[in-house]
Amino acid sequence: RAKSQQRGGHFTFSRGMGVEIRERVRMMHALRGGLERGELFLAYQPQVDLATRRPFGAEALLRWRTADGQHVPPDRFIPIAEHSGLIVEIGAWVLREACAELMRIRAAGQLDFTMSVNVSQAQFRHPQFMEVLRSALLDTGAPARYLELEITESMAMEEPQQLVEMLAQVKRTGVSIAIDDFGTGFSSLSHLQGLNVDRLKIDRTFVTEITGSARGSSIAAMVIQLGRNLGLSVIAEGVEDERQAQILHALGCPLAQGYLFARPLSPQALLEWLGGQQDRAA
Ligand code: C2E
Ligand code: MG
Ligand code: MG
Ligand code: MG
Repeated sequence: RAKSQQRGGHFTFSRGMGVEIRERVRMMHALRGGLERGELFLAYQPQVDLATRRPFGAEALLRWRTADGQHVPPDRFIPIAEHSGLIVEIGAWVLREACAELMRIRAAGQLDFTMSVNVSQAQFRHPQFMEVLRSALLDTGAPARYLELEITESMAMEEPQQLVEMLAQVKRTGVSIAIDDFGTGFSSLSHLQGLNVDRLKIDRTFVTEITGSARGSSIAAMVIQLGRNLGLSVIAEGVEDERQAQILHALGCPLAQGYLFARPLSPQALLEWLGGQQDRAA
């Protein structure tokens, strides 16, 4: 009985895997085609100062709408792009497009505005990465000090020596670095101290837990304190309601991003939203 169950389990598993692999291969081809056909685009989620609620920047978030009008979520296609190596090409496109958008935002009069771009491990470690970064800046005219790269915490903890060198190169261009999804990667704090980064992004999980109990807010509180002690900027991501915003503010978190303030927006909607925020302040 146990044996046949095991065998049955194994059969289902390998058949499931076959489907899984075929699906991944299919999606990889579709993604390559989608990139060529211009089906990828970026949405921009505003980032605000928690005390004043004024926007200071936006995060570029990749979107894929297939020819038949389906939206594929990034959590589904980015891992496939990473495994197939396609992320190198896609990531280069994202960087350039985000820099071009930064220039349009500046042309609309928003001069003190930072564009944040997610960068994958495979893309960041690619030998041509610095060249891609420099040419995105040069070709669009985007000022390096208004560009920020987001690397994930887990990525920041691998091969520390190589990473330290890469970060130094990025920093020499004037571009800044944030650690995304911070708190999820079990990083060693001594290691963090040796990394030349500018900002920590408190992962949404810890923001969600914040209203529950003192225990629920302890990780967010710790990251905010850690940022302060290390002289790093801190931003909370995934802020969905007013209570979360108020607790974060009370804990000393200076910056935030989330549905409470704005969803990821099209370029035009972002400019309109920014205009509306200015009117509100005036
Ligand atoms: P991330 O960089 O941590 O981005 C934050 C995610 O949280 C985004 O999901 C955003 O839409 C979502 N979000 C923002 N505010 C809220 C909120 O208040 N509540 C909730 N529930 N969610 C919120 P999205 O756009 O689906 O992106 C998912 C992930 O895909 C990103 O997580 C990032 O890791 C990756 N990604 C997105 N664009 C790119 C890209 O251009 N390159 C790379 N390498 N990765 C990207
Ligand atoms: Mg991010
Ligand atoms: Mg994040
Ligand atoms: Mg995330």
